[in-house]
Amino acid sequence: MGAQPLIPPIGKHVKLNEYDPGINGGNNKDAATQELKQYQTRLADLQEMLYAQGKHALLVVLQGMDTSGKDGTIKSVFESVNPIGMNIAAFKAPTSTELSHDFLWRIHQQVPAKGYIGIFNRSHYEDVLVVRVNSLVPQEIWEKRYQQINDFERLLVESGTVVLKFFLHISKEEQKERLLARLNDPQKRWKFSMGDLPVRDRWDDYMRAYEDALERCNTDYAPWHIVPANRKWYRNLVITRTIVDALEKLKLRFPEAAAGLENVVIPD
Ligand code: AMP
Ligand code: MG
Repeated sequence: MGAQPLIPPIGKHVKLNEYDPGINGGNNKDAATQELKQYQTRLADLQEMLYAQGKHALLVVLQGMDTSGKDGTIKSVFESVNPIGMNIAAFKAPTSTELSHDFLWRIHQQVPAKGYIGIFNRSHYEDVLVVRVNSLVPQEIWEKRYQQINDFERLLVESGTVVLKFFLHISKEEQKERLLARLNDPQKRWKFSMGDLPVRDRWDDYMRAYEDALERCNTDYAPWHIVPANRKWYRNLVITRTIVDALEKLKLRFPEAAAGLENVVIPD
């Protein structure tokens, strides 16, 4: 297995079995945890500047199989960020109202306003994943969605939003461990859903659907990241660092003080 890029090459077919979900980039857990803390602190500062400046937004899309760590990522990566600066949305099976609109209608309502970090736990990608695997709409409908998603994401980017998409890549064996852990822990059992088993059963179909989404919706303006996610500490480090690096590129600054502020006297 050669070196695996975090962002798959744009326009190339993605083969997920060439991406090892178990790598740790040569890091060890203690050092990575220290490094993570620094990035978390920096992320909190960057979000404040994002808000103060009010020019940009950040949208983080999290996708992955059950137990891949979407919830855990949200908890860890954004631990230090002021919650009021974030808009977190989890997408479940659409309601009848949502189904009576186009598939992006409910998504567009949840995108972050300027100054905010928006986090999607599942997303519009479900409409080319679960929907495709279970034939919830005919192929001629879901086929068009890749381009529709690219157009939608371009609109967001051209409107000042940084879009970062993360596929949390775990192995099927790791999922088994995590599902068993859920079943055996009274505090986690509620997270186990019988519906997870038929989805696990179609693992290979999901991987094919993911590969297509990772290829067809991997753009220079809204790239996919394939995150090795068998180790939670490495997953957290990779995602936090990627987000911080992307925000650093915006060269965020606190706005200049308004004219005359230097003469302000606060009355007793
Ligand atoms: P969870 O993330 O475990 O709370 O589960 C949410 C469920 O909603 C998953 O089984 C998703 O596949 C499902 N879901 C999310 N979006 C859609 C969609 N557009 N169509 C059908 N099912 C969806
Ligand atoms: Mg679930």
